[in-house]
Amino acid sequence: MRAAERGGIVLTTYGRSIGFCIDPIEKRPLNHFLLGTPVLSFGTAGCNLACKFCQNWDISKSRGIDTLADAAPPKALARAAERLGCRSVAFTCNDPVIFLEYAVDVAGACHALGLRTVAVTAGSVSPPARADLFRHVDAANVDLKGFSEDFYHRLCTEHLQPVLDTLVYLKREIMVWLEITTLLIPGENDSTAEIEALAAWIAEYLGPDVPLHFGAFNPDFKMVSTPATPPATLTRAREIALRHGLRYVYTGSVHDPVGGSTYCPGCGQCVIKRDWYVLGA
Ligand code: SF4
Repeated sequence: MRAAERGGIVLTTYGRSIGFCIDPIEKRPLNHFLLGTPVLSFGTAGCNLACKFCQNWDISKSRGIDTLADAAPPKALARAAERLGCRSVAFTCNDPVIFLEYAVDVAGACHALGLRTVAVTAGSVSPPARADLFRHVDAANVDLKGFSEDFYHRLCTEHLQPVLDTLVYLKREIMVWLEITTLLIPGENDSTAEIEALAAWIAEYLGPDVPLHFGAFNPDFKMVSTPATPPATLTRAREIALRHGLRYVYTGSVHDPVGGSTYCPGCGQCVIKRDWYVLGA
């Protein structure tokens, strides 16, 4: 008997995608996972959060019938990724938490072909669903969108603590490569005190080796009156996080070879040059 006939919830986006693209994995962003390799990215429609600064709002606020044009059964999707030379497939654009059953089946098809899977997520998910999703995922980039309950409540219609719980779970309880992204929004989550608190929490609860990316906000959706993030804000945030002992802190979505590169935490030498998502020496 189908779930609908039992009165259950049916994932209407299963096997359908808003589209696909192939990017360097640094664009997801992941700087310490399959460096410089192409990743096939896809997503569905809708989202479990309602961020007022969403840069994918045409997808995250879409009803499935508006945008879900492409059929993408799991095995066909994995075969396409393999044929196109990708090393991994990313669940992104919207949050894979809301297309969990589809993401899990795509992950199974990818693993059968030797491809890895990546989840780009806000990390807002209940513990049972969290375990169901992430045991099929090889790497995750989690948006830690701010470090105050007020920010999460006011701008994301969510709470901070479930995201922190997911971060601790991914780091301590399961084998998933973890990186974190924080989009800095002028006047909302970019104060020195908030960045200090965020970096101190990561150092204490996740350890110094989890890469942290500070991204630049661009006016969008319901926050078109808020100015874009100045590059100096990203540099300041990176310096604060480094002072708190984090070893791999990056500025993202800007051309900044200093802030985008990886340095040996022992001697300070640059070991991987990177400008935005382009690798150098
Ligand atoms: S979690 Fe991401 S996709 Fe969903 S509303 Fe927020 S910014 Fe948009």
